[in-house]
Amino acid sequence: MSTDSQPDKLEPLFTEPEIQRRVSELAQEIAGDLHGRDVCVVAVLKGAFMLLADLLRRLHDLGVEPVVDFVKAGSYGSGDRSSGAVKITLDVSTDLVGKDVLLVDDIVDSGRTLSLLKAHLQAKGAASIRTVVLLDKPSRREVEFKPDYVGFEIPDRFVIGYGMDYAEKYRQLPYIAVVKTRG
Ligand code: 5GP
Repeated sequence: MSTDSQPDKLEPLFTEPEIQRRVSELAQEIAGDLHGRDVCVVAVLKGAFMLLADLLRRLHDLGVEPVVDFVKAGSYGSGDRSSGAVKITLDVSTDLVGKDVLLVDDIVDSGRTLSLLKAHLQAKGAASIRTVVLLDKPSRREVEFKPDYVGFEIPDRFVIGYGMDYAEKYRQLPYIAVVKTRG
């Protein structure tokens, strides 16, 4: 990586149409499981915002009418990668007792964030918790965690776009790119 918060080079990994097609497929699967249930969709800030917006519109087309809430979690320490222990910095305000929760995140890496959040929401009395991520890097897992719905499995590469950042930038990209380093 360069040191001035600029990626060296972006190499497209998933195009906008590829992502949209896969999100529609995920919505079909999710709607099949959650249609007619009392659903709360909980999105993990900030990275999940774009998947959330696209997924909610596809779920709406399929007759799923959830309430929507947000959580935010961050790891202690800094750097490109998530590292160390995770703490919750914003909690849901919705009463989850008896609700079927769909927890939405951009990517699962070590698995620490989603395993902590899943346990946290479970403790609030949710009837069930399912997790959906657009990307999964199974080779990076440090704690056991398996999302219920996965858009794409990817190798151990740092990706940006479609909600995911590089030093807080590039979240607006409608596609996903790999950050290439020189040398
Ligand atoms: P985990 O707790 O599973 O290690 O990390 C999950 C969080 O780390 C994601 O929600 C995301 O914010 C961040 N993360 C993990 N891998 C990447 C990546 O390749 N690119 C970006 N931009 N963020 C990532």
